[in-house]
Amino acid sequence: MQKILLKENLNELIKTWIKKYEIIAPVKESKISRFKKINSPNEIYDCLLTDIPAKTHFMPEGETLLEHKDKKTIEIEGKIKKTILFGLRKCDLNAIQVVDKVMFDKNYINKRKNTTLVGFFCENPDKYCFCNSMELQDFYDLYFYPQGKNYIISIGSKKGEELVKHLPELKKEIKIPNPKNFKKLNTLDIEKYYRDERWKADVRKCLSCTACTAYCPTCNCFDIKELINSDIKTIQSKRFHSSCMSKNFSLVAGGKSFRDSRTSRFKHFVFHKVLYFKKQKGRPMCIGCGRCLRVCPTKIDWVNTINKMNRKPLFNFSRFSFKKLKETNK
Ligand code: SF4
Ligand code: SF4
Repeated sequence: MQKILLKENLNELIKTWIKKYEIIAPVKESKISRFKKINSPNEIYDCLLTDIPAKTHFMPEGETLLEHKDKKTIEIEGKIKKTILFGLRKCDLNAIQVVDKVMFDKNYINKRKNTTLVGFFCENPDKYCFCNSMELQDFYDLYFYPQGKNYIISIGSKKGEELVKHLPELKKEIKIPNPKNFKKLNTLDIEKYYRDERWKADVRKCLSCTACTAYCPTCNCFDIKELINSDIKTIQSKRFHSSCMSKNFSLVAGGKSFRDSRTSRFKHFVFHKVLYFKKQKGRPMCIGCGRCLRVCPTKIDWVNTINKMNRKPLFNFSRFSFKKLKETNK
């Protein structure tokens, strides 16, 4: 079902939501855009994508998952007020769908249940966006598409319907197009290229700074740290984001690291995003937002690297057979 709203009435609609819900929307603070609680629609920052993705709403840094006291352990349930996560782009909505497939703690699930996802069509994608290459799906509670002086609002769930039930219905539904992209990722043959020499140029530039994973909306790996309260009676288990780009990530007892080399860490990041996750869960983990490319301090563009490999495969000596060649030359 689709509803219709005059663009000039959007702020009024948000004001009615603010009375009943907590609204988390893009804001800009100290030159960084992120999702944060707003008290007025005027605080919303209109941007292509926030620098910091919406995952921090569901998994904030340092949140407590368990509390241990008097020989008992309590699981913290992460209950939040009814919340609207407003202004998500199609890629960020899909990022939430990806993370939903791997996060099963009560804390995350309760927050997800109490959050309504409101998406906004992306009118001005930039040169880093390649979402149309990543098998994105329609995943939202509400999705706003601008058309002339109106918004067409697609309804994806009962939760979404509740927010716009008073608005008029669109008589003839329209098909919402995909956002425009200037960049593509051709992952067709990626499995063949794990050992390709051309990864070396990217790996040489990689500083293992972990910025790509910190800003990636689908990276969800974390460490748990046990912190003792000042009363020395309570211990809290807290979740902190972690990164497969860091050497310590795969460090195990005895000092062995399973991905000791920068090459193996870099390739794992890329292959997990485009191949391994798809094999396990049926869709790529990467949603093509381009954040990792935008934030990389050495301007590594692994999407271009894969495209080059697909355009011009290197000659594969390991499969080359001199015996066969002799036979064909006879
Ligand atoms: S942001 Fe760039 S330099 Fe930093 S870890 Fe990622 S790929 Fe390497
Ligand atoms: S890997 Fe890069 S482009 Fe893909 S979802 Fe993560 S940040 Fe976005």
